[in-house]
Amino acid sequence: MLHYTHQDGLTKPCPRCNKVSDRVLTAKLRRGEGIVYHCPSCDLGFLDGKAFDVKAFYESEYRKSVSHKADHAATHAQEMFDIYSRFQSQRLKHILPYISAETELLELGSSSGQFLHHLQGKTQRLCAIELDLDCCDFMAQNFEFEISSDFFSDSPFADQTFDIVCSFQVLEHTPDPVAFLKDVHTALKPGGRAFIEVPNLYDPLLNTWKVPSYNQFYYHAEHLFYFSQKSLKQACLDAGFHEEAMQICFTQDYNLLNHLHWIMNDGPQGTCEIGLSDIKIDGQDPDLSLWLTNQLSALNEAYIKKLQETGQTSNLLIELVKEQ
Ligand SMILES: [Zn+2]
Repeated sequence: MLHYTHQDGLTKPCPRCNKVSDRVLTAKLRRGEGIVYHCPSCDLGFLDGKAFDVKAFYESEYRKSVSHKADHAATHAQEMFDIYSRFQSQRLKHILPYISAETELLELGSSSGQFLHHLQGKTQRLCAIELDLDCCDFMAQNFEFEISSDFFSDSPFADQTFDIVCSFQVLEHTPDPVAFLKDVHTALKPGGRAFIEVPNLYDPLLNTWKVPSYNQFYYHAEHLFYFSQKSLKQACLDAGFHEEAMQICFTQDYNLLNHLHWIMNDGPQGTCEIGLSDIKIDGQDPDLSLWLTNQLSALNEAYIKKLQETGQTSNLLIELVKEQ
């Protein structure tokens, strides 16, 4: 069940359907100021916050304010790459079956190349759009990608088409998600496939376990929209994809121990790596350590399956096929 409140005087029209909503998902953000509303007919969360210049912001400011560490320390392209390149297996599992030596692939918002580098040597072309100039420099120094720091329509890729277009945790940052998905549609060859991943509005820590401080952790100023299965599909329909050519996968990034930590401590673990890694318990007794590791791993697997069955995973990954 989605958790929201009504607060005196707080209403805002839904940017998609224009109906006025008084459902406040939060009035307190992790960073910055703003109010997140929920539109019941679109099942869409939307931020009423300060308008800002998206391109100028991501060119320089973003990495200073965002960090993978709970203490908000500044982070760099190399550091991000070192951490997140290890946790790309779910995305790869979905995309690798469609990769061949002829594949031309474009990633929108590639960050420091932590996903894309896994495909090096497996395709004909790997193209990256990334607004953060530090990340572009890092990719240019380390990889053979074709890189642009412009929006798709201003980039050298604007008049080209691709077999695969992917974008992870980017759509929710864009001021006009339908326009972004129209670019994805334009960038695909007929019969081409897109993979778009966003945080799930029905995140289990938020809605099922109702962890008080997770609310302020989940909602932040750079996320302009929060999608559910319904609103993500609707945005793709609005952008020209066909209903029968879209499939939602419920994907879970953090493990059971991370969730238990939040539930019991009402706060995050010290780093993201523990919660994203396979569960491994190391003690003085190797047999007991192995037994506990195996028991917890099996329970973790069953837990994630349960979250998927009930649509309550941390992320949604939608697979879209462009009409022939
Ligand atoms: Zn609406």
